[in-house]
Amino acid sequence: MDSSDDEGEEYLFKIVIIGDSAVGKSNLLTRYARNEFNLHSKATIGVEFQTQTLEIDGKEVKAQIWDTAGQERFRAVTSAYYRGAFGALVVYDISRSTTFDSIPRWLDELKTHSDTTVARMLVGNKCDLENIRAVSVEEGKSLAESEGMFFMETSALDSTNVNKAFEIVIREIYNSVS
Ligand code: GDP
Ligand code: MG
Repeated sequence: MDSSDDEGEEYLFKIVIIGDSAVGKSNLLTRYARNEFNLHSKATIGVEFQTQTLEIDGKEVKAQIWDTAGQERFRAVTSAYYRGAFGALVVYDISRSTTFDSIPRWLDELKTHSDTTVARMLVGNKCDLENIRAVSVEEGKSLAESEGMFFMETSALDSTNVNKAFEIVIREIYNSVS
């Protein structure tokens, strides 16, 4: 867009995606930003973030969504990753309870590194794998409630709730700053 066309303010929000390795973080981002899914995705290569633009109240809102480069395998997500984040998707895999057990650790890390109030969404991904579910919807809900977070089950594979999860976080940030 030609900047001379801009009437009102513009917003740019950094959002981070965290959670154990292989819970589907990278696929949630590619599903949201490019409507793509990769069945055999390995560690993310190269790209640090993707940007998605939304219109809210007639204003242009840009979400700059960061993905780890696989460093969570070594518990080495750096403070630079979190710096300036206004929102976070904290992701587990509903078919692997160890990834749910890690959530408190991720929340601690997020708290430690964030310098502002962060809009947080607990995301139970891979809800298409109902037949091998290991974490109930109730467990997810009640953890989110006790932490004061939003909660949603998603599937990056079949797209369930992916846009919704990102947009709730983006709108929450927008409401808190506008
Ligand atoms: P990351 O390490 O958290 O970034 O996870 P990836 O996005 O690389 O995904 C890890 C594996 O889980 C890949 O084989 C994906 O194809 C698979 N995966 C990701 N999201 C889903 C989902 O919603 N459903 C299913 N069935 N598989 C998924
Ligand atoms: Mg990844």
